[in-house]
Amino acid sequence: MKLLITRPMTPAVEARARTEFDVEIRENTLPMSRREMSSALTEFDVVVPTLGDLFSAQVFAGAGTVRCKLLANFGVGYNHIDVEAARAAGIEVTNTPGAVTDATADIAMTLLLTTARRAGEGERLVRSGQWQGWHPTQMLGHHVTGKRVGIVGMGRIGQAIARRCHFGFGMQVAYQSRNVKDLDFPAEFTPDLHKLAASVDFLVLAVPGGAETRHLINAQVLEAVNSSAILVNIARGEVVDEAALISALQSGQIAGAGLDVYEFEPKVPQALCNMENVTLLPHLGTATEEVRSSMGHMALDNVVAHVAGRALPNPV
Ligand code: NAP
Repeated sequence: MKLLITRPMTPAVEARARTEFDVEIRENTLPMSRREMSSALTEFDVVVPTLGDLFSAQVFAGAGTVRCKLLANFGVGYNHIDVEAARAAGIEVTNTPGAVTDATADIAMTLLLTTARRAGEGERLVRSGQWQGWHPTQMLGHHVTGKRVGIVGMGRIGQAIARRCHFGFGMQVAYQSRNVKDLDFPAEFTPDLHKLAASVDFLVLAVPGGAETRHLINAQVLEAVNSSAILVNIARGEVVDEAALISALQSGQIAGAGLDVYEFEPKVPQALCNMENVTLLPHLGTATEEVRSSMGHMALDNVVAHVAGRALPNPV
């Protein structure tokens, strides 16, 4: 059984992979080219791909005789893999749910607080040497405690964010999801996205990417948002129409944005970089050693189950 892991991993994950499998670990930290993906499908029995490895229908169709039987994705989001086309090519797909939840919710709160309290701008001010000292009206931001947050996509991460908002910051929680959730904290189901957008101080996105949610947050939704509200996106860049977001920020239609992901990642529009009321992170959601190791182990657990002919723990 030949395994390909498409990026360097944490030492713990690489050590386990080398002990348990005949593994090749790609050294490049950039996404695979189409040619690399085609070769991976024909030369390896299992591939552990990740974000940016665009396993499209064309890649499966153009691969020739496919040897690969499992794509054990490193990450919970798998919108870079055409799952239908993979199945049609006889390849199963798994992901790493749960391992990422708390770390990603923490980054959502980092973005919410940083943007609301102008922490990025303040940090830049101190570093610039231009800070002239405290005064009562210096850099007034948005109060967070007790405010109303709207979560779009009340899944694992959405609920972890909501918990932090409710128990940590005494916030009122409203949410939109495909289904009503049975939750152990108060939260108001608001199925109409425009109504949700119009009623909150913070709108936080936690839906999966893909065709169904592409540009879910468009010009109309942004128009509905309160002009004092802040948008936080830890989901996928394509969920937001980035051009519409830039217009809404430039016209003052919304007060600010905290972004971990971008529509054309890793390209970040200069217009966003120019705005002080925007917090920009380089897709840090799960970026801790513990979490990246847990994700790697989860991906390898799926490989082990596949090799043993057992049911896959995390099929998508
Ligand atoms: P999850 O448990 O599957 O939750 C996703 C939620 O989105 C579900 O509650 C689902 O609703 C809802 N949803 C799906 N389609 C929707 C739609 N069209 N409109 C409204 N709601 C919709 O997934 P998760 O583990 O929370 O992860 C969510 C996403 O976060 C991932 O797919 C990934 O793209 C992203 N993520 C980002 C980072 C990062 O580094 N920034 C890290 C991890 C994950 P129902 O339950 O009602 O069906």
